[in-house]
Amino acid sequence: QPVIEAIDIRRVYPGGTVANDGVNLRVMPGEVHAVVGENGAGKSTLMKILFGTEKPDGGNLSIFGQQVAFAGPRDAIDMGIGMVFQHFSLVPSFTVYENVVLGSEPKNGIKFDRATAIARVRELSQRFRLNVDPEARVDTLPVGQQQRVEILKSLYRDAKILILDEPTAVLAPQEVEELFAAVRALVAQGRTVIFIAHKLPEVLAISDSITVMRAGRTVGQVKAADVTEDS
Ligand code: ADP
Ligand code: ADP
Repeated sequence: QPVIEAIDIRRVYPGGTVANDGVNLRVMPGEVHAVVGENGAGKSTLMKILFGTEKPDGGNLSIFGQQVAFAGPRDAIDMGIGMVFQHFSLVPSFTVYENVVLGSEPKNGIKFDRATAIARVRELSQRFRLNVDPEARVDTLPVGQQQRVEILKSLYRDAKILILDEPTAVLAPQEVEELFAAVRALVAQGRTVIFIAHKLPEVLAISDSITVMRAGRTVGQVKAADVTEDS
């Protein structure tokens, strides 16, 4: 059973741009699923719909087999969706663990304990090969690590599905390798990863399935294993 099933999604922005129309997405549990397409194809709009920051004007969205109508990102987060945007929302002068914990209400009204928070963030970082020091200040970290702090934020909120919006666009080649190591650790431990991508070699290196978008539509889904570099 798919973890995400979007059927015939439509989104028309105020002003009339048809950003999504006839969009279908089927993501299976534990896979790395790439969404590819040219600028303006509608990828970001689809991701925003999955995260509840854009509302579809038509179509059906099911998460974990349950039909949803997200009123906002809070609903999506509660359903286990985490989103890493291209532009990070980190507080530069704060530490990694402070950024991770920030905005997560303490469960059961228990106050955050510094040592516990650091230990939890360190444990997540190690388990998912994110390789960031919980006590480092964010503004001292290279962009690749800052991005992985965003992934930590989602994991801290117990995300089961991680959506990454063009994650490799800002990364050096070495950082792409580090990100992909983390992605492999995520799916090895039952998470599902969806990412927007441009570069075919990168897509083929990491994905199981690929959905192709063109001019606001999904034009098909393929298994990465069935695609060759020159196709
Ligand atoms: P992609 O992520 O594939 O580049 P987008 O979903 O960002 O595609 O954009 C799809 C189309 O919708 C484009 O024509 C874009 O200019 C337009 N668009 C995106 N966001 C908005 C918005 N907030 N308001 C109006 N038009 C938008
Ligand atoms: P992305 O490729 O991630 O969509 P952009 O630089 O295209 O990044 O867009 C940045 C922001 O501006 C996004 O929130 C997008 O929805 C919005 N946007 C994109 N195109 C338009 C547009 N034509 N009109 C208004 N907002 C837009």
